[in-house]
Amino acid sequence: MPIAAFTHDVLPQRVVFAAGALARLGEETERLGLSRALVVATPGSGERLGQKILEILGARAAGLHAQAVIHVPKAIAEAGLAAARGARADGLVAAGGGSAIGLAKAIARETGLPIVAIPTTYSGSETTSIFGITDGARKVTGRDAKVMPRTIIYDPELTLGLPAAVSAASGMNAIAHCVESFWADGRTPVTLALASEAMRRFAKNLPAVVANGADRDARGECLIAAWLSGTVLSVSNGLQHKLAHVLGGLGLPHAEAHAVILPHVTRFNLAAAPEAKARLAEALGSGDPAAAVAAMLKQFPIPQRLRDIGFDAGKAEFVAGEIAAQAIKSPRPVSAAEVRELLQSAY
Ligand code: NAD
Repeated sequence: MPIAAFTHDVLPQRVVFAAGALARLGEETERLGLSRALVVATPGSGERLGQKILEILGARAAGLHAQAVIHVPKAIAEAGLAAARGARADGLVAAGGGSAIGLAKAIARETGLPIVAIPTTYSGSETTSIFGITDGARKVTGRDAKVMPRTIIYDPELTLGLPAAVSAASGMNAIAHCVESFWADGRTPVTLALASEAMRRFAKNLPAVVANGADRDARGECLIAAWLSGTVLSVSNGLQHKLAHVLGGLGLPHAEAHAVILPHVTRFNLAAAPEAKARLAEALGSGDPAAAVAAMLKQFPIPQRLRDIGFDAGKAEFVAGEIAAQAIKSPRPVSAAEVRELLQSAY
């Protein structure tokens, strides 16, 4: 189906990409007029990067809050907000993957503080105005221009130590943004072009970084692909993302859940989306793009099945009910029975 009509929003965002770009953080925070930036990160490797950032920021730093956790549990969001207020921060520097950026977004949503994002995974949160907070078994997401990072600094050097499994899983998460954008109702000429370009770069370079994390060129290519993928995520809100969202609320790891269900959702939807199938086939250089996505997952050192990431089969009914209630139509209607089948095949 050709696009009959579209609306394409472009939110302002500055993107700095270079090997060694982290050294430009001082001038980028100055550009935003920040004099007390709180650095937000995950514990462990994120905290180590956070310490390095404190040194670069010098007197412009208001402290390091390295307590980010996947899916931004409500208590973690509240603690982050208290830290930003306590430090009298006038801005946030989020360093790490979607977990660190997600916590910065939760703080920005309440305070309006500008975010500088320094992503070190490929999941793409840095490009969006989408926030998410988990309360009990439900993940609540929404959009708010306030949480969109004002500046992104992409520095491939910071990703050289990213473990193969995190590279693969967050890359598959980004690929899921692209695949779903091809059949999304909200697709535009821009999202289609970006998604094709991102898929080409990932298809060539994600296997290379998984095989050799120190491949600087492939790392850079994957970060660029991550930027493009994140940009199309604003339209990717069909079965793939709704399902990953419900599974995330149940506590399943986000990127891995996306990766595991992607071949199944792709096969299900491409059957009703010839245009999406043709674009994906071209980008992947394969006549059977669903099989190509499945083959990609298979070659990566990450969980392959829902059962491997702790999905409780007894929850299939709950998940099917949550998805059916959303009456997803694009590109084909999905019933509770079909969701159960899909979960079964991914299990
Ligand atoms: P993550 O941020 O949870 O990171 C995964 C692991 O990798 C963590 O243990 C982290 O400490 C580690 N890590 C990160 N960078 C590293 C590096 N350079 N070296 C070594 N270790 C490193 O992973 P993710 O998949 O990027 O983020 C998942 C979260 O992001 C989920 O909560 C998801 O919902 C959210 N997300 C949000 C959006 C959005 O637009 N709002 C988009 C995508 C993902």
